[in-house]
Amino acid sequence: MGYLSTNIQYLKGVGPKRAARLRKLNINTIEDLLYHIPRDYDDRSSFKSIRECVAGEKTSLEVEVIGEPIVLRPRRGLSILKVPVKDDSYNGYLTWFNQEYLKEKFTYGDKYVVNGKINKRGYEVQIMNPAFEKANLKDKVGRIMPIYRLTEGLSNNELIKIIDRAIKDSVNYIGEFLPNEIIQRNNLLSLKDALLNIHFPQSKELLVKAKKRLSFQELLVLQTGLSIMKRKSMDEKDGIIFEKVMEINSFLKDLPFELTKAQRVVFSEIEVDMGLDRQMNRLVQGDVGSGKTIVGILAMYRAIKSGYQAVMMAPTEILAVQHFETLSKYFSNYDIKVELLVGSISPKKKEEVLSGLKNGLIQALVGTHAIIQDNVEFYNLGLAITDEQHRFGVRQRAILNKKGNNPDIIVMTATPIPRTLALILYGDLDISIINELPPGRKEIETYAVGPELIERTNKFIEKQIMEGRQAYIVCPLIEENDTLAIKAAEDLYMDFRDNVFKKFRVGLLHGKMKANDKDEVMEDFKNHNIDILVSTTVIEVGVNVPNANIMVVYNAERFGLAQLHQLRGRVGRGEFQSYCILINESKSKISRERMRILQSTTDGFIISERDLELRGPGEFFGTKQHGLPELRVANLFSDMDILKIAQKESIEILKSSPILEKDIYKGIKNELKKMFKDSGENLIFN
Ligand code: ADP
Ligand code: MG
Repeated sequence: MGYLSTNIQYLKGVGPKRAARLRKLNINTIEDLLYHIPRDYDDRSSFKSIRECVAGEKTSLEVEVIGEPIVLRPRRGLSILKVPVKDDSYNGYLTWFNQEYLKEKFTYGDKYVVNGKINKRGYEVQIMNPAFEKANLKDKVGRIMPIYRLTEGLSNNELIKIIDRAIKDSVNYIGEFLPNEIIQRNNLLSLKDALLNIHFPQSKELLVKAKKRLSFQELLVLQTGLSIMKRKSMDEKDGIIFEKVMEINSFLKDLPFELTKAQRVVFSEIEVDMGLDRQMNRLVQGDVGSGKTIVGILAMYRAIKSGYQAVMMAPTEILAVQHFETLSKYFSNYDIKVELLVGSISPKKKEEVLSGLKNGLIQALVGTHAIIQDNVEFYNLGLAITDEQHRFGVRQRAILNKKGNNPDIIVMTATPIPRTLALILYGDLDISIINELPPGRKEIETYAVGPELIERTNKFIEKQIMEGRQAYIVCPLIEENDTLAIKAAEDLYMDFRDNVFKKFRVGLLHGKMKANDKDEVMEDFKNHNIDILVSTTVIEVGVNVPNANIMVVYNAERFGLAQLHQLRGRVGRGEFQSYCILINESKSKISRERMRILQSTTDGFIISERDLELRGPGEFFGTKQHGLPELRVANLFSDMDILKIAQKESIEILKSSPILEKDIYKGIKNELKKMFKDSGENLIFN
């Protein structure tokens, strides 16, 4: 075991300079090196004959040099080197650009194994810029070679050598930490074989098995850690027992609507938790518009009426302000003092809010992340709700725990994820699902159109606005470039204001505006002082203006489906027939398929599943975002099947050994400590 934690600097062939570079890749020890899993592979193992070659495909061949290399100079600065070759089937050329010096490497009559992309010009077959090696040295070219994540000053070949050395040196130290029966039952490779084959696969089959073994162990350890964490918080964290509050019935009666069945079920699950002496950690999942806010408000009401403070946190100021207004409206008749805490309030007001929180005068607080900053103290925080908060992980909850005496916690999200995944991403939370929309919602009509229909779209908007409605126009998403995104929004805004929609009131909203200005624009839109709101995606989550019934998204192909679904969720919130018009500039098949999905369903779960199938997990689903340890091998989406097995095994393990106290689980416990080192190991074993 000790050997694996050796600093890589001391590995033969590494030294301080290379060690520094490796550290940039987060590789500090030999073990880190072993778990530096290839990001891809170059399969040079299966050979084709020249005649079988397909243009555009990377192919391995064994060829014989049948003539002197030719150098062509079609124009200045360009030289083309062509080495004539043949195999039993046909003739061809190995071809390079501007690498004339390579001609020295080939000897007439010798055999080479090569791997490169095929190009066909008429009957001529060219193997472009191939990797090559004398055929009798079939060391690299004939194998499946790893391709690693690299850093400056470190080439793939160097890393291959270093890792090869590390593996050879450590074979005797790589122990097995999974119990034998788990390995047998799931037909897994041993850890040693898995590590060997993940780097230097002896065959495709073994590579698949290696990946399976390593993903499995990672997911097993992760799931086991999360499960222990969850149970800990259930057993040990003394929570607040909130009183049963009978007035809640009159509060419910005063609402402008009746709760849906799903809302009632979820609220009763929350009520049960609130009545128990353990801390609530509950995730409330519900599609856009399913009415999560009111469920949160009801919980806040009960907490406050039984003598505690309650907070609701939102990811943006716009949303915080909106919740503040909603809460103020609902609580005004019930003698509850509500305040708002966001970055943009005046220092004087802030002072006032902070002292009101400390002395208990303020009972309900709405705000952004500002709420969990150091200088915020509560008199007796009893309940914390975070809305649409994807980045709210273990750590943030730990902070909240300290702000009160283990306050109950509810996390609300509109992100639909399959249950298996929820178990991981929110592994330490209980889950409630609001699975129906309030009645009377008209299905939003969705149209995907090409840019040639923009004029017609504008006419349509005009007609709706004449009838008293309002519209959102969302500008193209310009990746990682706020400045360009804002420019696009401003251009569109000016064109609308001065030309296209001259007779209407057009507003602009983007992320870089001052918070006060943002609020003002949002307020104007809400109060119908603005007819058309041009904006970037800042309105993506939560915003609620029931009179707005048109959502137009420019360059819809640049958005994720889940994101478009969220945007669409901004309309269809009132009594009016609503429309979502997606302007799709792309002609690609995938893009058209994506638009078709949005047209065909408004079910967030289906949409997110299809989205995953089409484009794989986005950054959004990274474990980091959820405050979980980073995974080195497993991918939560593509490894869903392995995850299921790992979850099953994890349950069995914990049944027989609740804190992994049995000897056979010592290894797993060790791995678990390592994995959770940075993200709350103490939450597990203390
Ligand atoms: P989300 O789940 O997306 O956060 P909201 O809580 O913002 O949804 O609710 C969307 C809209 O539906 C709000 O205008 C809210 O007042 C309304 N609403 C919530 N519950 C009901 C209900 N049971 N019946 C009718 N309207 C409801
Ligand atoms: Mg909401």
